[in-house]
Amino acid sequence: MNATADCVVIGAGVIGSSVAYALARHGRRVVVVDRGSGAGHGSTSASSAVIRFHYSTYEGVSLAWESRHHWTAWRDYLGAPAGARLAAMHRAGVVVLDAPISPRSRLRELFGQVGVPYEEWSPDELRHRVPGIDTGRYWPPKPITDDAFWADADDELGAVFTPDGGFVDDPMLATQNLADAAGRCGARFTFRQPVTAIRTGNDRVTGVTLADGVQISAPVVVNCAGPWSAQVNALAGVGSDFTVTQRALRQEVHHVDAPPGFNRDGSLGPVVSDADLGIYVRSAPGDVLLVGGTEPECDPREWVDDPDRAGAHRTAALFETQVTRAARRFPELRVPPQPKGIAGVYDVTSDWTPVYDRTELDGFYVAIGTSGNQFKNAPVAGQLMTTLIDAVESGHDHDTDPVTYRCPYTGHQVGLGFFSRKRTPSRLTTDSVRG
Ligand SMILES: Cc1cc2nc3c(=O)[nH]c(=O)nc-3n(C[C@H](O)[C@H](O)[C@H](O)COP(=O)(O)OP(=O)(O)OC[C@H]3O[C@@H](n4cnc5c(N)ncnc54)[C@H](O)[C@@H]3O)c2cc1C
Repeated sequence: MNATADCVVIGAGVIGSSVAYALARHGRRVVVVDRGSGAGHGSTSASSAVIRFHYSTYEGVSLAWESRHHWTAWRDYLGAPAGARLAAMHRAGVVVLDAPISPRSRLRELFGQVGVPYEEWSPDELRHRVPGIDTGRYWPPKPITDDAFWADADDELGAVFTPDGGFVDDPMLATQNLADAAGRCGARFTFRQPVTAIRTGNDRVTGVTLADGVQISAPVVVNCAGPWSAQVNALAGVGSDFTVTQRALRQEVHHVDAPPGFNRDGSLGPVVSDADLGIYVRSAPGDVLLVGGTEPECDPREWVDDPDRAGAHRTAALFETQVTRAARRFPELRVPPQPKGIAGVYDVTSDWTPVYDRTELDGFYVAIGTSGNQFKNAPVAGQLMTTLIDAVESGHDHDTDPVTYRCPYTGHQVGLGFFSRKRTPSRLTTDSVRG
């Protein structure tokens, strides 16, 4: 049956569910449409859900630090009833090993500016605080097939530690929590229905058509289709004025037993961000260690034209690469004979920064290009999109006078021009998932 709404959100991933919750909380009648069978079943389901603050820009650090306050007050933020099963943030801390792509001087500057608590660790302190770690410097990262990979360390690494970072234990459940919260505010969700057309009239969006022919009319449509968002932009005929490009990139995250002593005294070990070897590791309940990659320059990038053909299973070759690097950092880590892990797809922009913006089609907005680093920022992404939509729909010219978002917890002001589709791509970012 055809329907009307104030806003249609395309995609019920962590970004779309958060946008839906924020809009519905602001009193808008929201319909969310997803072609999958439930909230968070798209690329969000593969997320490592690391909550860390070491982005390369003020805006990146500010949003991550603001979002952290939502994760620690998750039940309150959602207004969830007592007894509701919620995802949880584990404050395991994040250890950022020294590497030229994130010089300590820059981390100090940004953490100081935003007010992120941190400690600086010498190699001795690093050994003491992260049992079993090899503090050797192997920079730059190399393929494991290169003899140079096995060369002795040429120096020792220290680290910057942010005790308030960590990870969310279940990204799909967190997304479902946001969708449930949106539902409590009146948002409606339609699953197993791809949007097949974006309707327009009088030079603005007027709604969407679903695969079964149902039309939902709305003056505002928000594209939150993650790795499929370029296809949705094509349906809307937008993108001609984008200065940043957007492509889908395949990724794998592998699972191994945590090395002895990594989790101790009943606490999960920290996230270790290791750009020196090109990996990150994150503990998980059950003494498991997740091993992911940080797109070192020496690794080929697996760009995919169609996210549906990206190959959903981990490969033996990437498993061997990432887990061997992890075993270099943690020499007691045992490389299991049987590869375990998952594959996912990032929706990457040319400066690894999302596009949170309006488009050249009035009423058609995008929250896309999350570049493998926006799970953590989803709570804030929903709110800043609502601020932007409210302003633009009230007549504000965001393209010439960018809207500022005031972070409710920290009070920081973030200029949303930074996330504009028409920005000059940032030269401060690292050309990697680090942002
Ligand atoms: C392997 C991996 C590890 C990651 N690790 C981290 C991390 O540690 N920390 C971090 O902060 N971020 C991380 N990320 C990034 C983070 O998970 C993503 O930025 C985020 O999940 C993207 O959410 P989304 O809602 O934009 O996309 P998705 O979750 O993909 O949602 C998009 C939705 O749109 C739907 N859709 C698509 N086309 C249509 C259509 N035509 N009609 C209707 N529905 C449609 C899809 O079905 C899908 O459900 C990681 C990502 C991956 C892949």
